[in-house]
Amino acid sequence: MKIAKTIAELKESRRQLQGSVGFVPTMGFLHEGHLSLVRQARAENASVIASIFVNPTQFGPNDDFSAYPRDTERDLALLKKESTDIVFMPEPPEMYPPNARSWVVVDGLTDGLEGGSRPGHFRGVTTIVTKLFNIVEPTRSYFGQKDVQQALVIQKMAQDLNMNLEVIICPTVRETDGLAMSSRNVYLVPEERQAALVLFQSLNLAQQLYSNGERSAERIRREMITLIEHEPRAEIDYVSIADTATLKELDKIGEKALVSLAVKVGKPRLLDNIVLGELI
Ligand code: AMP
Repeated sequence: MKIAKTIAELKESRRQLQGSVGFVPTMGFLHEGHLSLVRQARAENASVIASIFVNPTQFGPNDDFSAYPRDTERDLALLKKESTDIVFMPEPPEMYPPNARSWVVVDGLTDGLEGGSRPGHFRGVTTIVTKLFNIVEPTRSYFGQKDVQQALVIQKMAQDLNMNLEVIICPTVRETDGLAMSSRNVYLVPEERQAALVLFQSLNLAQQLYSNGERSAERIRREMITLIEHEPRAEIDYVSIADTATLKELDKIGEKALVSLAVKVGKPRLLDNIVLGELI
């Protein structure tokens, strides 16, 4: 496994690969969710490149950039075990030289949900992902449904800007009790870890209501909110039932709907989602 710290080193190692390249961008502190993406990339491509970069431009002033968990040694050992060919781990000045002036922006899809709560977040995401795509030149790139808005925004960006790669969305990996894996879960103290189950429980409730024939988005939203509000450690940021293509809030659920939520439990702000009307 090669480790590239500069763009020049990455390009030099990339040149030596033959055939298709699967790319998995991450911010490190890896868990089974990340590794599932690496495994899918491994299964579908001749080579695999992963990146570890905690991207400063996608964090707002009140976000947890400096507190974001890091463990590079462990990450590298895990990536090596999955037969990753190259790991790209630049420092911020390598990706953002002081004279840089360009941003990539996706309109509309980024207005609500995470975009509504974290102004500027997606501009940071789409800019860094574009830069990584241009540097790595992957055949396919892998993103988790866990961050569903991010994955859809990147898919749209790749399509709109004629990027020469496939953007693949992979299923959310959960702990055995249902909590979606996240690097930020490390900050949950035991009582909060238990309280954090309320996200998954509320999604199950939405699924159950939908399966019983409920099609009013507002009624499902309200039931979810009531359930979450019973958990004193949970503080709702948003509970959304939206169109899977436009991410606009729905009144009535048709064929499909994206149910997503952001809830603060203790320090971390946790995300989760499911798609109603889809066979999983
Ligand atoms: P991050 O390091 O949090 O930026 O995540 C890197 C990639 O891993 C993103 O595409 C995430 O959506 C994906 N990811 C994070 N957690 C999970 C999970 N529990 N299951 C599947 N993919 C995940």
